[in-house]
Amino acid sequence: MTERMPALFIGHGNPMNAITDNPYRDAWLALGKNLPKPKAILCVSAHWQTHGTQVCIANPPKTIHDFAGFPAELFAQQYAAPGAPEFANQLCDLFVAGTVNKTENWGLDHGAWSILQSIFPAADVPVFQLSLNVDLDFAGHFSFAKNLAALRGQGVMIIASGNIVHNLGWLNPNSGPTDWALSFDYYIKAALETGNDDALINISLAGNVAKLSVPTHEHYLPLLYVAAVRHTDDEREADNAKPN
Ligand code: ZN
Repeated sequence: MTERMPALFIGHGNPMNAITDNPYRDAWLALGKNLPKPKAILCVSAHWQTHGTQVCIANPPKTIHDFAGFPAELFAQQYAAPGAPEFANQLCDLFVAGTVNKTENWGLDHGAWSILQSIFPAADVPVFQLSLNVDLDFAGHFSFAKNLAALRGQGVMIIASGNIVHNLGWLNPNSGPTDWALSFDYYIKAALETGNDDALINISLAGNVAKLSVPTHEHYLPLLYVAAVRHTDDEREADNAKPN
């Protein structure tokens, strides 16, 4: 029997979190020391959106620096993990033929490598990415993602990388979180703790705080992938790293 692998949602935040001393990176480093070693990691990142769903079979996957205006040190980062084309094939087999298309035309975007290099610093676990299909609504993503649960029993750790609250227009690094951001965070936490999938899929139930926290969908959607692959007997853990 293969041990069922955990499924994780990580808020990746600023790409600089990868290379600076900060509480988020500290939390990722500590997390990695307490995780089992999977056969492969499936990463669902906010930063890969496509029409239709794609899975990356590149081996090795290239490190993609999909941002601008950051120091050269960040562009120099390389996460040299191998790819996992055989696990990508297993993923495709979970769906009706043609539902998920294989591509070599991706790699690891910063939603993936900026956290993986702290969680699995040895880069010795094969990694593959799955895209977010922009043609699906929230319910469509949730029901699609339910099919991925089987991978956890095949030694695949699912790591979804986004942010529950992501509104750069309101970002003020010199102040703490706003009331609306905290309110939405608590709404999501309560929905996860009570297994209220409807609340996760229909975030408009949270009212105006949802509009402010999720002005675009891509950073929120990875959370649905982790919620969808839960088993009823999974233990839940939440860790809120506090800003300095
Ligand atoms: Zn991001």
